[in-house]
Amino acid sequence: MRRIFVLTLSGFWLIFWSFGLGQTPPPKIYISVDMEGIWGVVHGNQVSADSPEYSAARKWMVEDVNAVLRGLFEAGVKEVLVNDSHGSMRNILAHELDPRAALLSGSPKPLSMMEGIDGSFKGVIFIGYHARAGSLSSILDHTISGASVYSIKINGQEMPELGINAAIAGYFRVPVIMLSGDAETCRQARAILGENIVTVAVKEATGRFAAKHLPRELALKRLAETAKEAVAKINSLQPFLPSAPYVFELNLHNSNQAELGALIPQVKRVEPRTLQFQTKDYLEGFKLLRALIALASVS
Ligand SMILES: [Zn+2]
Repeated sequence: MRRIFVLTLSGFWLIFWSFGLGQTPPPKIYISVDMEGIWGVVHGNQVSADSPEYSAARKWMVEDVNAVLRGLFEAGVKEVLVNDSHGSMRNILAHELDPRAALLSGSPKPLSMMEGIDGSFKGVIFIGYHARAGSLSSILDHTISGASVYSIKINGQEMPELGINAAIAGYFRVPVIMLSGDAETCRQARAILGENIVTVAVKEATGRFAAKHLPRELALKRLAETAKEAVAKINSLQPFLPSAPYVFELNLHNSNQAELGALIPQVKRVEPRTLQFQTKDYLEGFKLLRALIALASVS
């Protein structure tokens, strides 16, 4: 009698499993794409829409993204959102993107390079990212605004965009699983997000405006294969979120750039060129930071 019961129970699980009810759904992936860390890019002219060099870099950008998408779809991913995250955020021509992916294009967007992220995603990928302002041997190193920002610190730690944005993903409990850019940017990603993140250095900078690139074919192959690897190890990665309260420190290039931001009651001008504020909520802090950077450009 007992044996029959056990057999019946296991039969039930077999039926349950064969209908796919016991399987975890394929992970939904979010991609943020910047341009300075794209293969082939070494100069500001290549990432500026008014330059004749821009159209070539724009093509390299979508090729890097499509290589990652190929790897993701081969790994069984069914849903991907690609957020164009550089300058006007209208760099990727919609018809050139892998048609299986959704594209978020244009600006401004409240969460900027991370607009559209939420807790339904299982992993975040940064493509074409660059190192923080003041990095040695890194293509076009800067933090959000090359014209205004000397450095950004969160809870005392100097942050590149990849750290600031990873914490937005962390707010929604989503880990960053992969990054591509130059070798120094990959190093900064591992230092901040942990050694478990997989990275692809598509180029190695010899200075701010020169780099040795991987052969194109090899770069695209690595981007696709690393995306597959990232999906395979997705459960071993932890979301990144510094602990609250969040102390944001914005160091600007010139003292005038701090003048308008200092008018906001919550914001302290702790040095002539430095604004500081504290928030309990990370997204609230990020939005105030963006507003202060925008004010710096008109101060
Ligand atoms: Zn950019």
